[in-house]
Amino acid sequence: MADGNGLCIRHLSSGGIITNYYCTSSCRHCLYRCSPRWPKDYITPSVAKELFATSKRFGCSGVHIGGGEPFLNFQGLLEVLRVARDQGIYIEYIETNSSWYKSLDDAAGKLEQVRELGVGTLLISVSPFHLEYIPFKKVQGVVEACRKVGINRFLWTETFYHLFKRLDPSRRYSLEALEAELGVPLKKLIGSYWLHPGGRALETFFKGEMKASEVVAFNPGGCKELADTSHFHLDLYGNYVPGLCAGLSIWYEDLGKELDVAKYPVISTLYSRGVGGLLEYAQDLGFKPKDDGYGSKCSLCFEIRKFLSSKKKDSPELNPVWHYKF
Ligand code: SF4
Ligand code: SF4
Repeated sequence: MADGNGLCIRHLSSGGIITNYYCTSSCRHCLYRCSPRWPKDYITPSVAKELFATSKRFGCSGVHIGGGEPFLNFQGLLEVLRVARDQGIYIEYIETNSSWYKSLDDAAGKLEQVRELGVGTLLISVSPFHLEYIPFKKVQGVVEACRKVGINRFLWTETFYHLFKRLDPSRRYSLEALEAELGVPLKKLIGSYWLHPGGRALETFFKGEMKASEVVAFNPGGCKELADTSHFHLDLYGNYVPGLCAGLSIWYEDLGKELDVAKYPVISTLYSRGVGGLLEYAQDLGFKPKDDGYGSKCSLCFEIRKFLSSKKKDSPELNPVWHYKF
């Protein structure tokens, strides 16, 4: 089915491994739509081995670990780190939301084990979205535990960390409560935070008024973003997520080959003809766009994919299916 113009991932630049999608939180901006409702699946050592080997084969010997919340299965996380060490994979950092923090001793004990397996940095999430679910004192606790065991911490973002010191550390704040407490308009508050128009952010921050036909007219041509490997992810199910297009998947063993259009009609269409092509493809299957209400090509793309996911139960490319259910 290949014609030489299809998507082929030949090289991986920089990226990470998603150990799990379940999370303590359901942040309003979450690209992967993680939440406590996802299955409690966690990457196995054998899958981790395959994915690390794949990453290395395509030129990337250092990755980060992300989720979901990777620390929710601490023994599972240690297994993954052992596999990485044994395969000569450098772990650049582990992302965490700090929800697992119970006490300084407990956190320091865990971080000590992580450090012994070669991890030198935690990326600690600090944002108004995370504060809706996690009291700031847990974040401060993990920061203190990092200091105690000599692990670097990268605060995402540092600005919010300092701003939140003005708050009651033991409570959570909704965005609205935070706006009232700090006296800063929400727009200004989150204006400095990098938000990608994907996942849950589509519904919460990228709503719009465009008709599907306008979206298509504004976005001619294929989505070359699908070929971007500058922040790639491979997940616990063996899916490679093209670009930052969460909910789309390429089986890891299909990397390095031009995609088979018969197996990947959605991704192939998006890559060659963009969202306009996908709209035509879905309309043939009964999709009817809303009269208006699309904020971007990605919001139309997601709505179409959600429709297709309900029609094509075993699609290898509309994965994981929970991305479309929750
Ligand atoms: S952004 Fe992070 S903490 Fe929030 S729901 Fe997603 S994975 Fe969980
Ligand atoms: S329209 Fe779809 S394929 Fe294109 S960049 Fe957006 S999410 Fe990705």
